[in-house]
Amino acid sequence: MNNPVYEIGFAGRIRINAHSLNNEGTVGNVTEPRTIALANGEKTDGISGEMLKHIHTESLWQLAKGQKFLLCSACDKLSPMKADANKQLKGMTVENAINTALGCPICDTHGFLVQDPTINRKSTVEFGWAIGLPNQFHRDIHVHTRVASGEKKRSKDGENNVSEQMIYNRPTRSGTYAFISVFQPWRIGLNEINYTYAIDNKSRKERYDLVLDAYKAMMSRLEGAMTTTRLPHFEATEGLIIVATTAMPVPLMSPLSEEYIEQTEAIAGTQSIQKFNSFAALMQEIDKIKTAIPYELGVT
Ligand SMILES: [Zn+2]
Repeated sequence: MNNPVYEIGFAGRIRINAHSLNNEGTVGNVTEPRTIALANGEKTDGISGEMLKHIHTESLWQLAKGQKFLLCSACDKLSPMKADANKQLKGMTVENAINTALGCPICDTHGFLVQDPTINRKSTVEFGWAIGLPNQFHRDIHVHTRVASGEKKRSKDGENNVSEQMIYNRPTRSGTYAFISVFQPWRIGLNEINYTYAIDNKSRKERYDLVLDAYKAMMSRLEGAMTTTRLPHFEATEGLIIVATTAMPVPLMSPLSEEYIEQTEAIAGTQSIQKFNSFAALMQEIDKIKTAIPYELGVT
C-alpha cells in the first residue's frame, strides 16, 4: 500500500478471560466492575474508552521514549497535563501556541487542553467502550484474604489481628467484547486554526508509524487496572481494519451486531477492508498499513 491514508477504523471482537481491567470504584472492601446499559436496556460488562485511550497513550510513550522522540516536559514523564504544563505557551498567539505544542508527538496525536492561551486539540486517536456481548460475558466476585506471616499462631493465641488480616472482594470477568477505534492520520501535525501542518512530512510519517505501533503494543498486551493479579488471558480476536485513502470518514459499524462485517463491506467496499481472525493476523494487517504515508490536506 503506497497511497496516502486519510483515516483508519478498527472494529472487532476480542475474547478476554479472567480480567478486571476497568472498575467503577471501591466501596468499603468491595470493588465494582464497570457496567454499561445498551439501547434495549440490557446491562452488560464494559471497559471504558478512557481506559483504552490511556493504555494506548502509555504504549505510545514507551515506544517514543525507546526511539528517542523529543517529548514536551509533561509527556516526557507521562503526565496527563500535556501541553498545559508548557510555560513557554503563555502569552503566545493561539496559532503559535498550537504550532509549539504540536512539536510533541504525544500532545499532537492524543490531544490536549491549554488554559493560557485557551486552546484545545482533539485527539487523532479515538476509542469507544469495549462492550461485552450480551450473553457472552461472565462475572464473579472473589473473596481474597491478605495473610500476614504468623497469622495462624496469633489466631490461636486469641490476639486481635484485624489490621493485618484483611478480607477484600474483587471482580473477575471473562467475555467477548466489541471494540471500535478510529485513527485520523490526515490530522497528524495539523494546526486546526490556520489549517497548515506544523511539522514536516518525515515527522508526520514517523508519528503515523508510532501510533500504529502503539496499537500493536496494546493489542499484544492490555495493561489496565489490577493487572498485577489479574493479567488478562487473551484468547481470540477477529475483525476489520477499514482504511480510507480519500477524504471520506471510514464507516464504523458496531461489532455488537452480527452483521457488522457485511454492513461495513457494503458501505466501504471490500478493497478498503482488511480482515483479521487472530492476533498474529491483526499485527500483520497493521504492518501493511505502515507501508503507507499520512494523507496531506490540500495535496491531490
Ligand atoms: Zn506533550
